[in-house]
Amino acid sequence: MKFELVTLPYATDALEPVIGKQTVEYHHGKHLQTYVNNLNNLIPGTRFENVELATIVKESEGAIFNNAGQVLNHNLYFTQFTPHGSGVPSGKLATAIQAAFGSFEHFQKEFETAGISLFGSGWAWLASDEKGNLSITKEGNAGNPVTKGLKPLLGFDVWEHAYYLDFQNRRADHLKELWKIVDWKAVEARY
Ligand code: MN
Repeated sequence: MKFELVTLPYATDALEPVIGKQTVEYHHGKHLQTYVNNLNNLIPGTRFENVELATIVKESEGAIFNNAGQVLNHNLYFTQFTPHGSGVPSGKLATAIQAAFGSFEHFQKEFETAGISLFGSGWAWLASDEKGNLSITKEGNAGNPVTKGLKPLLGFDVWEHAYYLDFQNRRADHLKELWKIVDWKAVEARY
């Protein structure tokens, strides 16, 4: 099974000014493409041939884990945005956020804090356990909550390649802006 570059559900300039066209072109077309190519080169001849991506992330280590993790992470990342940000979650996800964090605003604050306080490169994730209970996890480098038995719902990439062209060192400002383009319908569909 060959992994392929996920198709963007919007034009490369559609997320401006939150994420600039050049950032999307490099992040999706160069960084993610490299992870996909690396994974496809690493897998042949290993026990991960014809294994589903999330399973590879759960069971691998080293270079295969790093590249598989980053392919999974970015597949989720790039398909959770829309130029027509739908504002706030609804339905059972909204209820679960209320239950876990007190309010949507409090969840946003905790999520931003997770991203800001992660030292170096990595991700902040909203994840669900099998009962639907929500939590925020901080993952270094290629980490994804699937390795903890959780389902990833929303991920903010805090590698500098995600924001440096648009926000330079201002990670906190970038994370705050991202709420404007979250596609809550897409996130709810994962829950
Ligand atoms: Mn990235």
